[in-house]
Formats: sequence, structure tokens, C-alpha cells
Amino acid sequence: MIQEAAKYIVGGVNSPVRAFKSVGGEPPFIEKGKGAYIWDIEGNKYLDFIQSWGPLIFGHCDEETQEAIIKAVKKGVSFGAPTKVEVELAKEVLELFPHLDLIRFVNSGTEATMSAIRLARAYSNKDDIIKFEGCYHGHSDSLLVSAGSGAATFGVPSSPGVPKDFTKHTLLAKYNDIESVKKCFEKGDVGCVIIEPIAGNMSLVPAKKEFLQELREICNHYNAVLIFDEVMSGFRASLRGSYDIYGIEADIVTFGKVIGGGMPVGAFAGKKEIMELLSPVGPVYQAGTLSGNPVAMSAGLATIKKLKQNPEIYKDLEEKANKLMKGFSEISKEKEIDFNYNVIGSMFGFFFNPKLPQNFEEVNQSNTKRYAKFHNKMLKRGFYFAPSAYETGFICTPMTNEDIENTLNAYKEIANEI
Ligand SMILES: *Cc1c(COP(=O)(O)O)cnc(C)c1O
Repeated sequence: MIQEAAKYIVGGVNSPVRAFKSVGGEPPFIEKGKGAYIWDIEGNKYLDFIQSWGPLIFGHCDEETQEAIIKAVKKGVSFGAPTKVEVELAKEVLELFPHLDLIRFVNSGTEATMSAIRLARAYSNKDDIIKFEGCYHGHSDSLLVSAGSGAATFGVPSSPGVPKDFTKHTLLAKYNDIESVKKCFEKGDVGCVIIEPIAGNMSLVPAKKEFLQELREICNHYNAVLIFDEVMSGFRASLRGSYDIYGIEADIVTFGKVIGGGMPVGAFAGKKEIMELLSPVGPVYQAGTLSGNPVAMSAGLATIKKLKQNPEIYKDLEEKANKLMKGFSEISKEKEIDFNYNVIGSMFGFFFNPKLPQNFEEVNQSNTKRYAKFHNKMLKRGFYFAPSAYETGFICTPMTNEDIENTLNAYKEIANEI
């Protein structure tokens, strides 16, 4: 099907990782999903560890979420005018975070981080920002940046089409390395730091607590706005994302993925004095024709409400994630395969690497050829893992212990062949 698709859609896909370029083979085209499973158009069934890249914490076709969507659709899909459900979702989210006063909804994680940066620059009245190697914040120009000659340098565009003039304001620091952050502050006129406190886009690498604490202190010292990008970790690592785990208060937090329950939603929330710089209260422009549309908001509201009513699910999800990773680890040991992993709540990440990586450089020392083989062979057996070694895996509530055991048995079968 991918060849047919490529006649009409660039590369046959609408987001590049779906094309399987880094693992090889052809991506299955998906027909439907139910709970922990998906089916492709040829009728093959897969246990789904991607779950739409995170959003579907209750699995595919969760009843409450689906009903909320259908109910909303029947009343009209979009008005471009304020609706009650936006207020309800805003209240539900803000209630969880005592340090966040106001929120704005957008349509994607990319929009959330892009808008948050604009706001942070306006608030601090400084142009330079710090981002970390290996963190992904969507594809806006100033964030599509890689390190120049090593970390703690001004960034260079990581994609053609991004002007050097745009990325020269983005300084690159090393994850979990506070010295590199200090160097960036000395080098530039930094008004904002953006970080995934639980990095989920270089597989899964959580920040060390002391590192985040020091980062908070440095930002206070320099009057820089600290943005936690929790588009992935929010409502996934735990109900309150990194806040439950580290207790550190960012000035702005960005959300996406789970907050939309599978519909396109992003959001950024922050302290009142920062958020009130946003139009129409303040001068910082930000807008969206479909932002806060009632169908997407209803899906988000159903999901967030259900999570708040069932906070115990995170423990169960983490147990399953641990069971999977411990099992993989034991099998790897038997087969003399270098293996290390991280688990946080419903998120897991593993590395064919003798060392547990703490930053992007170390992640890059993992054996990605081995991952590609793992991916191909598991897919053939009906286990749908991310088509890249740089992604996080997700457990959803309908996943059973039996599902995990079946996955371990499949890994046992293929481990000799990778
Ligand atoms: C997915 C992701 C984004 C981008 O969100 P999109 O909805 O794909 O634009 C931004 N930041 C993080 C941490 C993400 O995981």
C-alpha cells in the first residue's frame, strides 16, 4: 500500500517516522483498533505499544472518550466561538497544578511549544533560548536545531529551509549536565530554557532530580523562563507528569498527546503574570481557527476526567511496563545481548547498549541495527513497537499480564536472531 500512497502523499505518509525508514520494511496500513490491539488492512492483528504515540492511555476506542466525541459531533463540530467544554477542560487541568494559573489550548504539541517560546521571549525581553540535545519539541523553526561543534554552542539548523538567523538564538546544552547549561548562560543573553523533564524522544531518558533542581535555580538567578515540555510525559509518566515525580515548578508547561484523548489538542499553561501577556489580554499574538473546538475538547475532557477518577491506574501501568522491561532484560542477559531500560509510569524505553544512557550522545552509542532487527521480527509476530530506536513505548490500561507474557515469549524466540 505504501507505493500506492506515495503516488499521492509525499513518501506515502503524513509524518515521517511512519514510513519505517530507520528500521526498514513496509509499514502496515491500519484499519481499526480496539483496546490494546490494532488490525491492518490485510487483517493482521498487532499488540500496540505505540498507542498513537502516547495519547491513548485507555487504549483504542475507549468507550467514555468515544461517547463524548459522538455526543459533541452531533451538536456541531466547530464554531470558532467560545464553548463551555473548553472551560471545563481548562478547570480540570489547572486544578491539578497549583503553580499554573491560566491555560490556552491549541491544536498540536508543536503549536504549544512554539507559542510558549514566543511568550517566554516576550516576558523575558530576551531572544536567546536554551534547548537540550536529544529533546524534541515539535517542528517549529527555532526548535529544529542541532548542536554546532558540540554542546553549549549556538545551534545550527537541523533541517534545510530553516534560516541560520533563526537558530542562532537557540543554544544547545547537554541533557543532565548542568555545567553545559551554565556555559550557555554565559555565552548568550538567555531568557528561556525549554526541556523535556522526562525525555521521551531519545527513547526514554529521565532527568536527574538534582539536575532539574539546579536548572530551576539557574533560571531564577538569570530571570529566565523555565518551560517544561510535557507534551508526552503529561498524564503519561503520572497524572501530573514530572510534577508528581520531581515536584519542580516550571513557569510554563506545555501539553499535548493525552490531553486530547486521541484528537488533535495541545496546550500551554503558566503563571498569571506570564500568560496575561497573551492576546487578547496582552500584546503577544497567538490564535487558531480550530483551537479549543468542541469535539477535541470533549475527547480531552472525557480522558482527563477518567484519569482523575482512576489515579490508581498509573501503578498498574508501571507494574506492566516493569514486567515487560525486566523480562526483556533477563532474556537479553541469557542471550548475551547488551540491554538497559527505563520505566516511568506507563512509559518505557530500552537501549541495546551496555550502559544506561544519561544524554543524547550516550543514547547514540546504542546498537540501532539490532533495534531494526528486533522491530522487524516482533512486527511479523504481531507486536507493534515504534519503528525507531529513538521513541518511547507505551502501556495502555486494556493491556493484560497475558499480553506482556506473550510479548516476552516472542522476544525469547527472536533474541537469537538479532
Ligand atoms: C510529540 C511531541 C511534541 C510535538 O507534538 P505534535 O503534536 O506532534 O506537534 C512536542 N514535544 C514533545 C515532548 C513531544 O513528545
